[in-house]
Amino acid sequence: MKLLISDDDLTSRVMLQALTTQWGFEPVLAEDGEQAWAILRGDNPPRLLLLDWEMPGMSGPDVCKKVQEMDLDDPPFIILLTARNKKADIVAGLDAGANDYVSKPFDSAELRARLQVGKRMIDLQSELLQAHHQLKTQAAHDTLTELLNRGAVMSVLKHELARSQREGSPLCIGLCDVDHFKNINDNYGHLVGDAVLKELAKRFNKVLRPYDQVGRYGGEEFLIITNTIDINCMSPFERIRECVADTPFQHEGLSIPVTISIGIVQFTPTSSNSDINSLLNLADKALYEAKANGRNSSILA
Ligand code: GH3
Ligand code: MG
Ligand code: MG
Ligand code: MG
Repeated sequence: MKLLISDDDLTSRVMLQALTTQWGFEPVLAEDGEQAWAILRGDNPPRLLLLDWEMPGMSGPDVCKKVQEMDLDDPPFIILLTARNKKADIVAGLDAGANDYVSKPFDSAELRARLQVGKRMIDLQSELLQAHHQLKTQAAHDTLTELLNRGAVMSVLKHELARSQREGSPLCIGLCDVDHFKNINDNYGHLVGDAVLKELAKRFNKVLRPYDQVGRYGGEEFLIITNTIDINCMSPFERIRECVADTPFQHEGLSIPVTISIGIVQFTPTSSNSDINSLLNLADKALYEAKANGRNSSILA
């Protein structure tokens, strides 16, 4: 693990470097607080810091304060090295954002133990952060297709609708439903049905632009949100419909023709149906029409 050692005293720096290298750390050296601060703002900075308290210019506690102001998700673990041992000084150092302190002259066994604690805290924090990130992703995504789940795509829609109302920006939604999906399950089995849904998600992602959004709205229904500036807002949906219909899905030697129908609604800030439910109802009606129309088609409400 990288360890930032910041000390204005050369002898002290060299000694700390030798010791901590022996203990398995990778020391990065700074001669004063300014240098330490520059290193911390660089790429991939050390997350374990050993800062001398007294340094010309920026002191150890000054660096601590700067780090605190960054308000990082994964703040570094900071140990101050100090000849001061008055309670008030120590409190001030911890208040500035240090996690621990070691008195100078230091005992090397104690310093080593405290660095190990810092390393453990950082490892723990990384694991927690990773778990938190994973949970957040899981909570917003559908496990089968890896698309946004219903809750997440609805909150995207809410957000986009508000933006469209505020900025007058275009917004189009398409409710897509697989045609006769029940037959696919009945003919090939539920697992093949699942594989078809997965492949469908891949095709959506292939055709949609990065700023379009798609989520699994229900079993074999998907909601696509786009802010296309095409006058004809049907074209992105037609591209999607064609991308599905044009090439049969291949699965374990099977070639399965799949088509989808799409009900589309274009939202304009002046339209009377401006809440989510009315929009979705309109999309649903258009979808119903597309089905009645012989399926494999898209209809604009
Ligand atoms: P239509 O063209 O009118 O939409 O006909 P359909 O057969 O697609 O519609 P229906 O609503 O009758 O059937 C949808 C089927 O989708 C029923 C349900 O069992 C199946 N289904 C829903 N979720 C999943 C899933 O996650 N995996 C699989 N394999 N099937 C699913
Ligand atoms: Mg000093
Ligand atoms: Mg359906
Ligand atoms: Mg269907």
